[in-house]
Amino acid sequence: MPQSADQVLDHAPLFRQPEYQEMFARKREQFECPASSEAVEAQREYAKTWEYREKNLAREALVVNPAKACQPLGAVFAAAGFERTMSFVHGSQGCVAYYRSHLSRHFKEPSSAVSSSMTEDAAVFGGLNNMIDGLANTYSLYKPKMIAVSTTCMAEVIGDDLQAFIQNAKNKGSVPKDFDVPFAHTPAFVGSHVDGYDHMIKGILEHFWEERTRQAGTRINIIPGMDGFCVGNNRELKRLLGLIGVDYTLIQDASDTYDTPSDGEFRMYAGGTTLEEVAAAQDAKATLSLQKYCTRKTLDYCAEQGQEVHAFHYPLGVRGTDEFLLKVSELAGVEIPEEVTMERGRLIDAMADSQSWLHGKKYAIFGDPDVVYGLARFILDTGGEPIHCLATNGNKTWEEEMQALLASSPFGASGQVWAGKDLWHLRSLLFTEPVDFVLGNSYAKYLERDTGTPLIRTAFPIFDRHHHHRFAIMGYQGGLRLLTTILDKIFDKLDQETIALAKTDSSFDLTR
Ligand code: SF4
Repeated sequence: MPQSADQVLDHAPLFRQPEYQEMFARKREQFECPASSEAVEAQREYAKTWEYREKNLAREALVVNPAKACQPLGAVFAAAGFERTMSFVHGSQGCVAYYRSHLSRHFKEPSSAVSSSMTEDAAVFGGLNNMIDGLANTYSLYKPKMIAVSTTCMAEVIGDDLQAFIQNAKNKGSVPKDFDVPFAHTPAFVGSHVDGYDHMIKGILEHFWEERTRQAGTRINIIPGMDGFCVGNNRELKRLLGLIGVDYTLIQDASDTYDTPSDGEFRMYAGGTTLEEVAAAQDAKATLSLQKYCTRKTLDYCAEQGQEVHAFHYPLGVRGTDEFLLKVSELAGVEIPEEVTMERGRLIDAMADSQSWLHGKKYAIFGDPDVVYGLARFILDTGGEPIHCLATNGNKTWEEEMQALLASSPFGASGQVWAGKDLWHLRSLLFTEPVDFVLGNSYAKYLERDTGTPLIRTAFPIFDRHHHHRFAIMGYQGGLRLLTTILDKIFDKLDQETIALAKTDSSFDLTR
């Protein structure tokens, strides 16, 4: 046996032992009908060509590795940003297990959500009984202050009506009549997690605002959007807004939910925007969204209420943070304090210090539309060239906004924008028009392996590295963190390229 009680091996060394290697080879021969190594190699080489790229880009009926998740995942993330709120997904259990594990793998934190456990009978006769029992169980077992209901594919295909179902459940006594149960239909076969986020935030605002009369005030609402870096980013935002002295409400704050301490007490709920704050947010003077494509319907609704609305594209780096803070200072009628101006100057100084290493580096960037925009804007400011900008959930408007961004800088001249394309498309792009680095999420580690392009993990989800989400990348301080992350990879790559003894090590320098 390759391992014993005295010598327990992790699966990486374990599966390299001869017993396992022989087993894998046998399995391949007997069950996988393998093509010859030559045929596999020939196909691998063909997939690197321009001819294959054209066929790949013309692909219509198949999606391979889309850089997006389905709507309910965004709805579950959105609900996690409110005080003592339990996500209730009307649909099948497996879907909800996926959202919970996806969020837990990224945040390294428990992620709570329940499902109405619809099975075959509910698919035929409708899921009303599942809703009645499910809401009652959720209310009595998990003692939430609010239950936020969204839907999976199954519930949407059969056309379950959430409003009527929730009312029915209340009539049956599942939860008290005045208990808060906002809802959002989140059909998973259209849109993506950013739309699910949008629908759930709008559903929650509607729930609290519909029966209320707005009293126009002076506060500002800020909606962060679907953000895998929310733990670090939201805390940095709160610090910055505190320094500036703005009266604001952060609508949807999951920073504490996904970062509870280990002190012997399990917290199913932690932090989040309070329900009183959500109701009072109707009176705000303005609502600012930090991610336009996460809040299109929500902002329309806020505008209908009489609020001023403004949308940004993930305010990171100098330009992105400037744009956001200047709007905040204008709306609040307060000056940006010297302390924040100094932080801005320090970020510019750091970028200038490293300019010779950053200038002219080529990047592929993928992720959610606003994240890609924000990262590309930052890369342009460092003198880098965003060559491929890809968002599977990007649309025509995003494409035009990206084109305008690239056209605003000489470093954007070679940039191409790929809306609606997936990571298999990106693979072809990297083989035919290579870049120095990929900015994206953990799924690009396969692109890194196949194409040899180093990956810098800057987007949700990050499963295979730990704790990135705990550090801000928004704001000037966040810009410093992001800059350092990029520079570390640049220098790691350079060290690898110059490490060969007596061959390349004349440039294996101690001081970079
Ligand atoms: S796409 Fe549909 S089936 Fe798949 S996880 Fe999302 S809701 Fe469930």
